[in-house]
Amino acid sequence: MKKFKVGILGATGMVGQKYISLLENHPWFKVVYLAASKNSAGLTYAESVKNRWHMNTPIPEGVKKIIVEEVENVENAAKKCDFVFSAFEISDKNLIKEIEEKYAKLGMPVVSNASANRWTDDVPMLIPEINSEHLKIIKIQQKNHGWDKGFIVVKPNCSLQSYITPVYALMKAGYPVKKIMITTLQAVSGAGYPGVASLDMIDNVIPFIGGEEEKTEEEPLKILGKIVNNKFVKNKDIKISATCTRVPVTDGHLASINILFKDKKPKKEEIIKIWNEFKSIPQELKLPFAPTFPIIYKEEENRPQPKKDRDTDKGMAVTVGRLRECPIFDYKFVALSHNTVRGAAGGGILNAELLVKEGYIK
Ligand code: NAP
Repeated sequence: MKKFKVGILGATGMVGQKYISLLENHPWFKVVYLAASKNSAGLTYAESVKNRWHMNTPIPEGVKKIIVEEVENVENAAKKCDFVFSAFEISDKNLIKEIEEKYAKLGMPVVSNASANRWTDDVPMLIPEINSEHLKIIKIQQKNHGWDKGFIVVKPNCSLQSYITPVYALMKAGYPVKKIMITTLQAVSGAGYPGVASLDMIDNVIPFIGGEEEKTEEEPLKILGKIVNNKFVKNKDIKISATCTRVPVTDGHLASINILFKDKKPKKEEIIKIWNEFKSIPQELKLPFAPTFPIIYKEEENRPQPKKDRDTDKGMAVTVGRLRECPIFDYKFVALSHNTVRGAAGGGILNAELLVKEGYIK
């Protein structure tokens, strides 16, 4: 198979670096284009990340000498790329939206990690195991803008990836969920680089992450929602309440979750069986980045743990544990997902693989 030529916007950041390391030997995608802010533009990639390469593997040889471009040089990207992964950060979200739209207008599919387009009416917020049917909106998006080949697809926030798939698996098995209460313990890499100052983080827990609780409560409602009259309509049957905290862990967002079912309540053994057997479209299509089992239940009472479980199945599986009855809700459990892999670059790659397999990226 001829490989797709891929660009990474925000290639020097925490998520951009993860894309580069995960794509090193990808069977379908070849990284040919890298872009970041004007501070990095004009340097080779190796120079641009000197003293700030955070991956555990060396910078891949194939990208070291690529000259970093400015994200806003959309025309340059259009000459070289079949599609782009977007992982750049600017405080002005409208500007991110504008730039991503420019890429789409020039015919490039944009697989985005940014929050700027997550609530755009005709942009799908995708977790391939849950809502692949939302890709249908792409044709409407292209029609709305008059784009032919380009379009935008986003992935949701990293904070909700640990619990949304286990909750969805139960809903799909016939046990709709009514209320969810979550407390997240989120890793420092979730704040990008340099992120939270070490003096704020060491020996400490910070009980606030700006905007994160709103995303954790609201984004699942779009993911579990429907397309009605060419727009997304939120799922109105579920209420979510979240507290998001930052903890001194490098990678891996842990969450403590309490759930209340709408009507019937499954037995504990049945829930574990549903989770362990859950498979979906990425597994059926054998997408290269799909975990064999998206949810893995750990029987040990002291798991999951970020250090021990975040890399399960290439960092793409969600690990759950400590399922027990709750005196207020029906059940409580703990869940973990790797924030820069499943929650960012790995999730973006899985989205792109689905878009190729479904014929949207050609
Ligand atoms: P980061 O480490 O701070 O990296 C930011 C990137 O954006 C760098 O490549 C930077 O380039 C570039 N950039 C900064 N200012 C720019 C400008 N004015 N124009 C163009 N590019 C600019 O952030 P990150 O953690 O990788 O996050 C990137 C995106 O992914 C964000 O939207 C974030 O919300 C999202 N995300 C992150 C995570 C996570 O776990 N970290 C998870 C899910 C989603 P320079 O190096 O040249 O400054």
